[in-house]
Amino acid sequence: MDFFQPKAFVISAPSGTGKTTIIKEAKRLVPSLTWSISCTTRQAREQEKNGIDYWFISVAAFERQIKEKAFIEWAKVHSNYYGTSWQELQKAKEEKNTLILDIDVQGALQLQDKKIDDVFFIFITPPSLATLEHRLVARNTETKESLAIRLKAAEEEMNHRFLYDVSIVNDSLDNAVIDFLSYILQQSIVWPQAGQFDVKEIAKLLYTYKRTADSIPADLIKLEAIITDIYNTKKR
Ligand code: 5GP
Repeated sequence: MDFFQPKAFVISAPSGTGKTTIIKEAKRLVPSLTWSISCTTRQAREQEKNGIDYWFISVAAFERQIKEKAFIEWAKVHSNYYGTSWQELQKAKEEKNTLILDIDVQGALQLQDKKIDDVFFIFITPPSLATLEHRLVARNTETKESLAIRLKAAEEEMNHRFLYDVSIVNDSLDNAVIDFLSYILQQSIVWPQAGQFDVKEIAKLLYTYKRTADSIPADLIKLEAIITDIYNTKKR
């Protein structure tokens, strides 16, 4: 029996919520998570690489791909185009990968309309809008105007959180990563004797284990490996 069932996880959050940090931490803990690479027309930032962070393409190329219906969803975010190609989802399915799609609310709603099997929607929220404002001010990247725009956008995005399968409150990074990981494990693994395993407990163990262990087994995502490794770790 194949205990692993690959799924796609759509993650949305208002900017400044810590979504990227949570996803990166989860990927560090479970290296077999695959990141969906979107196309965008925005300029690459320093450190960003074509084909790794995004496919950076021209507006003309993006619009051509819209016409060709190459995107499963696309949206204009902060005046740039962003979109996910059908190919990304197809490839993940063929290769049996757990795919993480970091996309905005507009894109997530388009995906929901398509009613594709095996897609799970996660929304990450700040504890409150006031906390988000503090975080954005502390980050020191916003002008007064852009701060106001981001907060207004955040409020609107947060109104959509009930349309997601679950939402996670990022009040502490540790808890948010554990919650995020729990949903991934719960959704992508067929648990034998349902009810016997507390997935959140396993996610917690995995988190603690991987923070302290020197060598990390690459295939921990598989049920057998998780149970063997984690429960052996528990026994040690
Ligand atoms: P950034 O430019 O900071 O990398 O991303 C800006 C926003 O675009 C983020 O909210 C991110 O979730 C969203 N985004 C990134 N890729 C896609 C995509 O393929 N589709 C949609 N709809 N949004 C995306």
